[in-house]
Amino acid sequence: MAGSEGAAIVGGSVAGWCLAVELQRRGFEVVVYDVPAPENRRLIGGCTLRRAALEVIAAAYETDVHRLIEAISGARGSFRRLDSVLAWPEAGYRRILTIRRRRDPIGLSTRHARIVAALRRLARRRGIEVVQRRVTDAAELPPVRWRIDTTGRLGGAPHTPAPRDLVLAVQAPCVAVRLRSPLRAGLAIAPLEYDDEGIRWLSFFTPFHDPASPAASWYGIVTTRVRASEHERTAVLGARAQAVLHRQARAFGLRVHDPEATLAQARIPIERAFPTLRCPQTGVLSVPRAFSPGAPAIYVDGMLAQARGAVALGRAIATAQLEPGRAVHRALRGLRRRNRAAQALFSLPLPAARAAALAPVLVRPWLATDW
Ligand SMILES: Cc1cc2nc3c(=O)[nH]c(=O)nc-3n(C[C@H](O)[C@H](O)[C@H](O)COP(=O)(O)OP(=O)(O)OC[C@H]3O[C@@H](n4cnc5c(N)ncnc54)[C@H](O)[C@@H]3O)c2cc1C
Repeated sequence: MAGSEGAAIVGGSVAGWCLAVELQRRGFEVVVYDVPAPENRRLIGGCTLRRAALEVIAAAYETDVHRLIEAISGARGSFRRLDSVLAWPEAGYRRILTIRRRRDPIGLSTRHARIVAALRRLARRRGIEVVQRRVTDAAELPPVRWRIDTTGRLGGAPHTPAPRDLVLAVQAPCVAVRLRSPLRAGLAIAPLEYDDEGIRWLSFFTPFHDPASPAASWYGIVTTRVRASEHERTAVLGARAQAVLHRQARAFGLRVHDPEATLAQARIPIERAFPTLRCPQTGVLSVPRAFSPGAPAIYVDGMLAQARGAVALGRAIATAQLEPGRAVHRALRGLRRRNRAAQALFSLPLPAARAAALAPVLVRPWLATDW
């Protein structure tokens, strides 16, 4: 592979595969360097693809959402309705808003590795060359014009300020014991809970499918926000988040499934400034931070941002109408605005959140648009 029509992509992430198919469709010769992570039942990475992400990925792969869901999870683990609910001490759950479709799924949850494995399989079927090799240096890549790193491990990435805040997340598959309101079969819920100490826990429970944990037909994730510098508090809240996951699962009639083998905890930086794409020393385009939605894992938009950023980048490379960094920035501007609004809403003090719960019309344009 040589010449200006070639692209080498490192890492088979959602961004990597979407970019590969977008460029190939536009006549580029593409090679993807990807070493899939070893099979592991633990829920590492994002598990829920929301409708907008499914649509962007399906369009890039020239298929439809139903076929894509079939390829990812055998058409299981999807849902057609999501209720956002609010809870505070000594109160039940109050519904803030509902997002739903009558016939079509609005989301799908499965283990992240299965999502990227399906995208890999579909990309190979389209004839994309995949080299199973770990690349850690730009010098290992062929001398093609477009060299793109989706792993952030090639070095030389543009400098941006260190994140000030983190999203702390704990997630695991769950088994249904006896579903309790506000959870119901086929429904996803997003509880925002204020505990006795005023800590806000934003959670998400959805239907789920993973052949590696066949007994688990539900998935739960609990998140909160912490200062990156508060290491001790982060450790304390990490343990607390696990307890919250177990407690909320029980409250909804679920049980966390085999947590020793499946439960995962993550700390995800909240981006304050989105870096340019091009690494100054190597000329490689580094996408992980440039494709961030802002705060991932709270608004189900990490993979959506990756897919949308990848398609915009592919189009910019192929058409040369817009500088790639600007094209990506434009494509993600609205999504980042809504992510910031979601962060603000989930940071409200309780009285303000209660007011928002009473006036869902105020939050709907922010939380439901583009779902
Ligand atoms: C706890 C948590 C919950 C989240 N929840 C959601 C959610 O509900 N919805 C959502 O949309 N997003 C969510 N996100 C965000 C989403 O997971 C990420 O935005 C996205 O998966 C980022 O993927 P990645 O960059 O980690 O790459 P991955 O998806 O992990 O893919 C990287 C690939 O590259 C390979 N690779 C790595 N290094 C190299 C190398 N040097 N050479 C070759 N190959 C290599 C890896 O093996 C892997 O195959 C969540 C994230 C976390 C942590």
